[in-house]
Amino acid sequence: EEELKGVIDLYKTSNPDYEQEKDMLQSILQLNDITVEEIFTHRKNIFSIDSASETKDIIEKINRSRYTRIPFWKDNPENIIGLLNVRSLDIDLENHEKSKQKIFSKINKPWFIPETTNLLEQLVEFKKRKEHLAFVIDEFGELLGLITLEDIIEEIVGEIVDEIDAPENNFDFNNSGKLIIS
Ligand code: ADP
Repeated sequence: EEELKGVIDLYKTSNPDYEQEKDMLQSILQLNDITVEEIFTHRKNIFSIDSASETKDIIEKINRSRYTRIPFWKDNPENIIGLLNVRSLDIDLENHEKSKQKIFSKINKPWFIPETTNLLEQLVEFKKRKEHLAFVIDEFGELLGLITLEDIIEEIVGEIVDEIDAPENNFDFNNSGKLIIS
């Protein structure tokens, strides 16, 4: 691994795009030196739903969520009982008991991983299990946070701004309705 890193370092290029390629290659070689604990989203920033909430509140939270995957908890926010992928739901949820049943039928078992897992192991596991999100726990089983596939990919390629998270759209329409991209 050290030799490989050395070779990549020595690779000389005047093209700035290839510099990025070099950085990415170096980052890939560092994945097994970084643990999930170093990059996860802390539990205090998790957007989640109390499973005991009223149907209308659950629907309201789902509609308001900027996240695709929403954890559900019972009794306290650190006791995660399942994970909902919003995309698995119908577009319009109405406020009645049937909707609650529908939502709950789509909640999947949460996947917990130890804080000591390294990013390479986690990337391989995400791929193997076809999952995108895991909950990080400590040695006592306490919830520390969550990590997604995107968090690991960002370690390699740098920050990715979600189309929904973008602070402002850098496009506009001109008077004849044509799209202008600045
Ligand atoms: P999405 O598909 O919802 O945009 P990503 O998997 O792309 O989510 O993750 C984007 C970022 O948001 C990552 O840093 C991830 O840790 C974080 N994240 C994902 N889901 C949640 C959630 N329910 N609450 C808080 N942070 C989340």
